[in-house]
Amino acid sequence: MAKLTILGAAALALLAGCGTVPSPTGQALPTNWDADLGPAHEPEVAISLTLPSQSPSPTAPPPAAPKAAPAMVPLVAADANWVSLNAWAAQNGLRALRTIPLLPQVVYALTTLNGVFAVRVGSQTAFWDQLDVRLGFAPQQIGGQIYLHPLDVKKTLEPLSRGLAVPTTPGRVVVLDPGHGGGNTGTRSVADNRWEKEFTLDWALRLAPLLARQGWQVFLTRTNDVEVSLPDRTAFAEKHHADLFLSLHFNASGGGSDPAGLETYCLTPTGMTSSVTRGYNDDVRQVFPNNAFDAENLQYAVRLQRALLEVNGTTDRGVRRARYQAVLRGHGRPAVLIEGGYLSNPREARRIADPAYRQKLAEAVTKGLEDGR
Ligand SMILES: [Zn+2]
Repeated sequence: MAKLTILGAAALALLAGCGTVPSPTGQALPTNWDADLGPAHEPEVAISLTLPSQSPSPTAPPPAAPKAAPAMVPLVAADANWVSLNAWAAQNGLRALRTIPLLPQVVYALTTLNGVFAVRVGSQTAFWDQLDVRLGFAPQQIGGQIYLHPLDVKKTLEPLSRGLAVPTTPGRVVVLDPGHGGGNTGTRSVADNRWEKEFTLDWALRLAPLLARQGWQVFLTRTNDVEVSLPDRTAFAEKHHADLFLSLHFNASGGGSDPAGLETYCLTPTGMTSSVTRGYNDDVRQVFPNNAFDAENLQYAVRLQRALLEVNGTTDRGVRRARYQAVLRGHGRPAVLIEGGYLSNPREARRIADPAYRQKLAEAVTKGLEDGR
């Protein structure tokens, strides 16, 4: 049974589509390190859909900058004590690094209780069970040992090695955020000229009943073609005491290449450089409310990216961290943004234009939020 609630939505700055500057994708690893996902879990729970009201929509320019200056902390010292991965392994009762001679670079793999963490010297692209996960700092080799920046130990390796559990409490709340809406169209499909805003809404509407059956209370920041401001999207999640905020988008290339594939984003931890900045003044000292959930953000992002890749087999463009996405920064809860493929890529745009494929994307997100690791 649907329960519709009205939220007074403020006007939205006209946000451009989800274009990105092309960046290199990770190199797949040859061995199969993936472990089984947890069991399915489908309790019967009524769905609650909540939508914002129509509102006037002036077209102020993007991108949304924080209204107030964020808190700041000192820069990480350049000589911060880097952590030997072998020493970290020994401290945690794990075996030493395995060396995998994968051309053109050697891969160093650390097997934890919950997955395999693999790095390459000089590369910010790491792997968690073969999934592309971006580091804040490239690992170093010093005296034959492989070193990781302490922030990557604390904000990447440790959260992943603890496992990827999701809350299973009754009545847990997820707010789904279909990107764009109204005059804020997002990017446009080269396959059928439809706007990103249509595809994100369709994705969310397909996803909502699936998550409801899984035990989540589901609320949507919009259920029709209206503009919702970025602050209102955050406020909406706050109002509904969300346990998770999930923003859904599709991508477009801003460069001369023709990329395709999936990206999942969460907020960059304080002290780290972002994987993507897109013109945002990416000050590593900034502290946003959502930084209180750095570990959970990454755990959700990895779960979702893994599940999406399993279902649709699209190119893995990585779990990335960014500060420019204002819709993530202010949340007092874990928050993740998925870019579900490139509407600028003809082949991928044709897939996204297919309702059956969008249903697969919804099923993938649902799988990513199932119980288990
Ligand atoms: Zn978008």
